[in-house]
Amino acid sequence: MSRVIRELGEWDMDEIDRAYERMENFTAEALQAVLGKMVDRPSTGICRTCFEPIEPRRLKANPHARHCRDCADEEEAMARRTSLCGPR
Ligand SMILES: [Zn+2]
Repeated sequence: MSRVIRELGEWDMDEIDRAYERMENFTAEALQAVLGKMVDRPSTGICRTCFEPIEPRRLKANPHARHCRDCADEEEAMARRTSLCGPR
């Protein structure tokens, strides 16, 4: 009886260890995926398209903004046009 409990205990510990390891890996991976998607790199404060400084108000709202308002608008409009016509 005591042997069964001990074995069960060891098995449990092993499983918990493995599960914990898996969870840790998963968490790190998930975190990295989320970070990679959302954070990428912080904005340089310079528009990538026209190299004008991005409006401070825009940067405050989105610290990772890559384009000034004008270029972002244009990009968005272009994306909308592309998705409407289909990128054939
Ligand atoms: Zn711009």
